Amino acid sequence: MPTRACRTCSERFIPLRFDQAHCPPCDAARRDVDLIDACLRSSPGQNVDWVALATGVPIERVLELAAEGRLAAAPIGADVPRSCRCEPSSPGRCAYCTLQLRGRLRDAAFDAAKAASTPVRGMRMRGE
Ligand SMILES: [Zn+2]
Ligand SMILES: [Zn+2]
Repeated sequence: MPTRACRTCSERFIPLRFDQAHCPPCDAARRDVDLIDACLRSSPGQNVDWVALATGVPIERVLELAAEGRLAAAPIGADVPRSCRCEPSSPGRCAYCTLQLRGRLRDAAFDAAKAASTPVRGMRMRGE
C-alpha cells in the first residue's frame, strides 16, 4: 500500500483518494476549522455555545481547536494561546506562533484582495 505524508502533521497515512493531502484526523480538523471560521466570519463575536450549535461541531472540539491556535478568530469563551511556548530548537511552531502567522497571512491576503478589487479609473484600455 502506498502511503503519503500528511501536509499538516507529516504523519504517514494511506490515502483514500488521489487528491487526499491530509491524514483523516487532520482532514476532519480542517473541515471543522472551515465551518467555525465561516460561521464567525458571518457572525463575528459569538460565543462558543452558539458556534457549536451553528456548526454542529461539539463544544469541546471548538475549545480544543481554539486552544491549538487553529481558528482564524476564536469565539467568546474559548481560550486562545496568549504567549509563545516554542522549543528553542524549533521556533515558530507553537500554537501561539501559528496563530500569529495565520493572522499576518490573512491580513496580507485581505489587503491584496482589496487592492486587486479597487477600480482604477481611466486606466482601462478600450478594445474598440
Ligand atoms: Zn495529519
Ligand atoms: Zn512560539
